[in-house]
Amino acid sequence: MSPGPTEIPPEVLSVASLPIIHHRSQQFRHIFEEVSTNLKTVFMTQQPVLILSTTGTGGMEASIVNLSDPGETIIVISGGVFGERWAKIGESLNRRVIRIDVPWGKPVDPDLVAQKLAENKEAVLVAGTLTETSTGVEHPIEPIAKLILSSNALFVVDVVSGLGASVFQMDEWGVDLAVAASQKGLMCPPGLALIALSEKARKTMKNKRGPKFYFSFELALSNPTETPFTPNISIILQLRKALELILEEGMQNVWLRHRILATATRVAISHLGLELYSSTLCPSVTAVCSPTGIKSQEITKKMLDEWGIYIVAGQGKIKNEIFRIGHLGYCNATDILMTIAALEMVLKTLKAPITLGDGVKAAQEIFLK
Ligand code: PMP
Repeated sequence: MSPGPTEIPPEVLSVASLPIIHHRSQQFRHIFEEVSTNLKTVFMTQQPVLILSTTGTGGMEASIVNLSDPGETIIVISGGVFGERWAKIGESLNRRVIRIDVPWGKPVDPDLVAQKLAENKEAVLVAGTLTETSTGVEHPIEPIAKLILSSNALFVVDVVSGLGASVFQMDEWGVDLAVAASQKGLMCPPGLALIALSEKARKTMKNKRGPKFYFSFELALSNPTETPFTPNISIILQLRKALELILEEGMQNVWLRHRILATATRVAISHLGLELYSSTLCPSVTAVCSPTGIKSQEITKKMLDEWGIYIVAGQGKIKNEIFRIGHLGYCNATDILMTIAALEMVLKTLKAPITLGDGVKAAQEIFLK
């Protein structure tokens, strides 16, 4: 029950035991094309989706490297560990980073993005996050995309923990680049970054001269049926199976399932008298403030040691203050009910003022509805 790496369905896990297929073989090319096509459905795009053998952060760095040059201005929506990661990557690559500092636990106000863009007309891109895993916030990506559309800047979105959980429509909303990773909503092991690129992004990157080699998008796009270098073959084979499961369920149903799981979790937490850290529902993860006097690590440790359920504490400056329950990917109502039931027992033994059953009952009522 962590927000990633997430549980892997047995059908996907078993693919890992199959022999490696050579990445220049016809057999693999067919699989690669199938995976690329099915990824487009998940990103809701007609644009190409690159498959890079790296993790989400590698995909983020590659995005900055390909869509901006050293010295250029980039605007970053920061309000958690992962929004801030865009800023850190930008600064380490000598971009001029303008931050929009959003209070942690809150979604960004799209008007602030419009204002920063108006003040920094030279900005080549705005980087944001669909679901900020560290705080459990879902940001309003659609309205921000619409307002950036009329500017010269590109909109680059980290959908690492959002893809396959939160509603995301790349083309419809006008997002220029979306970067995902294999180990979250896509129900695979870590090791792949998936990057969808709009036409505007593909045109822009042709004029960028900054240094790049392994992560050159132009190189990756030059052959749609293979990767320039040896890819993470095993995970691509697993991703093929995972995408089959996702498309069988259907994107609308996947989004709805996550919304219901998140709703039940939030409602259960509130009925236990605990405070939610985030002001928005986040389909991937729920962040909860630890009750006064109890460190979040005490809760996560007991959850694992006593009940075998892995939830996570906070990150960054709120490390000890919150714990997070992931409900992402291969996850259903039973998982939530068990997690809430175990959490109640853990909180009770830690002397938190809760009543056993209050959270479970609230979640049950949501699921019955
Ligand atoms: N962005 C978000 C929103 C994430 O949740 C994560 C991983 N937790 C990352 C980026 C970084 O991805 P990775 O750990 O795969 O490099």
